[in-house]
Amino acid sequence: MRKRWLIGNWKMHGNLAANKALVDGIRERLPVLSESIDMVLCPALPYVSQMAGLVADTGIMLGAQNASDHLKGAYTGETSPMMLKELGCGFVIIGHSERRSYQGETDGLMGRKALAAIDSGLIPVICVGETAEERDSGRTHEVLGRQLDAAFGYIRTAHDEIIVAYEPRWAIGTGIAATPEIVQAEHAFLRARIAQRDADFAQRLTLLYGGSLKASNAESVFSMPDVDGGLIGSAALNADEFVAIYKALDNVVNKSAKDSAKKGQA
Ligand code: PEP
Repeated sequence: MRKRWLIGNWKMHGNLAANKALVDGIRERLPVLSESIDMVLCPALPYVSQMAGLVADTGIMLGAQNASDHLKGAYTGETSPMMLKELGCGFVIIGHSERRSYQGETDGLMGRKALAAIDSGLIPVICVGETAEERDSGRTHEVLGRQLDAAFGYIRTAHDEIIVAYEPRWAIGTGIAATPEIVQAEHAFLRARIAQRDADFAQRLTLLYGGSLKASNAESVFSMPDVDGGLIGSAALNADEFVAIYKALDNVVNKSAKDSAKKGQA
């Protein structure tokens, strides 16, 4: 069975006191993490060092929200993935729709960033997703396929540690999550697309859903067979919600373990 993941994208929120309160809040509600579910928190860049201290020895892992496609050099204002690794990050979100929209990031840049992240020892969380207009005009698969191919054109599937997040742009920050059926259909499409390159890898690939997930809709989405967890934005800023989403994922994992055990006995 694939491992499950819950990743919190804190976006451009937080400060020293609020970050500590949020990590403390998560730990109070969830003193012990499930062995089957990894938790990653992605704070704003200036707080990565503070967060490395806060999550030390907790089992919670650290990610960044962006990194350069270069490892070093004259790139004023950029952050090397090697620097993030040195500060304690294990992950980096690549190609988030907000960076595509506001920073004009392209598919090619996303691929180069993913490669630089892997070369630095980080696991890239590669975001793909269609706009409402692309979905309405029947171009969802064309867009998802193009974005995925662009990223995997730079990286090789032989790298086991790659996470892909399906984040429909119309669902991010809007309060309108994709239905479980839509999520499953698009995850199955993404897995099949990767299978054309490497069938074994496609079965191992972690596929997360992101877009207005909250405690009330998480379990139905996590119950879908091709969903391996979630990338959570606004709800990750609230310890109650975030932990409730984690527990929803834990319920799904436990149910599926029970179902497999029953099948084994039958
Ligand atoms: C995100 O920013 O990756 C995200 C999923 O945001 P939200 O959960 O707020 O829609």
